Amino acid sequence: MASLADSFRDYFGESSLSLFSIVRDRVNLADQLLGEIVSVRLLGAGELFCLFCRSFSCGHVRYAKRYLAKARESKFSSPTTFDHPSEKS
Ligand SMILES: [Zn+2]
Repeated sequence: MASLADSFRDYFGESSLSLFSIVRDRVNLADQLLGEIVSVRLLGAGELFCLFCRSFSCGHVRYAKRYLAKARESKFSSPTTFDHPSEKS
């Protein structure tokens, strides 16, 4: 069952979504359509669950999935790491 927000999403695409932050097991997305920060939770086995829509397959989940796949790719292909920079003066 598609939520109302999801119906809008199908119409507008996912351009209204942007990454807000990633905190531990949560990907927070800024949804301009809703005017809310939407949390998508990472479950085990790579499953994602949207806490806003209570859905495994809404636009937020799709967006988060794509983002994480992209992030994983760039992590593997990039020789640089994201360790804490040692800025001792
Ligand atoms: Zn959602």
